[in-house]
Amino acid sequence: MFDTLSERLSGTLANLRGKGRLSEADIDATAREIRIALLEADVALPVVRGFVARTKERAKGAEVSGALNPAQQVVKIVNEELVGVLGGETRRLRFSKEPPTVIMLAGLQGSGKTTLAGKLAFWLKSQGHAPLLVACDLQRPNAVNQLQIVGERAGVTTFAPEPGNGVGDPVDVARRGIEHARSTMFDMVIVDTAGRLGVDEELMRQASDIREAVQPDEVLFVVDAMIGQDAVATAEAFRDGVGFTGVVLTKLDGDARGGAALSVREVTGQPILFASDGEKLENFDVFHPDRMASRILG
Ligand code: GDP
Repeated sequence: MFDTLSERLSGTLANLRGKGRLSEADIDATAREIRIALLEADVALPVVRGFVARTKERAKGAEVSGALNPAQQVVKIVNEELVGVLGGETRRLRFSKEPPTVIMLAGLQGSGKTTLAGKLAFWLKSQGHAPLLVACDLQRPNAVNQLQIVGERAGVTTFAPEPGNGVGDPVDVARRGIEHARSTMFDMVIVDTAGRLGVDEELMRQASDIREAVQPDEVLFVVDAMIGQDAVATAEAFRDGVGFTGVVLTKLDGDARGGAALSVREVTGQPILFASDGEKLENFDVFHPDRMASRILG
């Protein structure tokens, strides 16, 4: 991901190298190139507009400083703007003062939610926590089983409704899962919820009911970075229908153009907390806006 964007941006910025002073025309031309590069990468239009306007304004107003030549200054500005669009500071997970800390996962089917539940649990365990997975996706026949498999792989326990009792109520399972965590020794609960192939009202209502009932410390919206522009619309639908406190980007190892990843923070106003870039448990990390910006700028 980001290869083409990376290439375009570094190419554009390399063109400035060696110039003693940048004219307005140089800056305008660079801004145009940046705009094209971002649009080609599928970054949402309002995000592109803001990014280019800020970069241009700052580049024009930049004083020639002793340490950096004009081209380096523009690179620095673009880097800072990228960090800003990605969220600025690294946003850490919020822990409850009274354990267990409850993290609810929401997102479309196929976004990588179940895989993420395992990765997050595995990561929390490596940080010295005792996480419990709670299976509240009672919609898909195989979902509970899938979560249990993921849990086993991560070496963590999964709380699931007893089989044979019909479909069951996900709100009730969430409540009982948290109660179970509280009465035993789990300090973290990861609640997996049902997803659909597309956004629908029932899905939103169910996720929203679970949120209301258990008041999670974090609601993480899991989004597949490969779905391009659709990611933005999906994120907006979840923001309005369920509400979330953070975003997890999955499938950053894909060859999509990456615009979704660059848009979701600014469009939803919520920070990206984690990123997943592969199917293995270890392909997961805290999201650092500055590192991602450096990776994009090469
Ligand atoms: P869910 O329906 O949201 O629970 O999605 P799943 O966790 O079942 O994931 C859907 C598919 O995406 C599975 O085949 C996963 O192995 C795959 N997947 C999940 N995360 C990643 C990732 O970061 N990179 C890649 N390449 N595949 C992933």
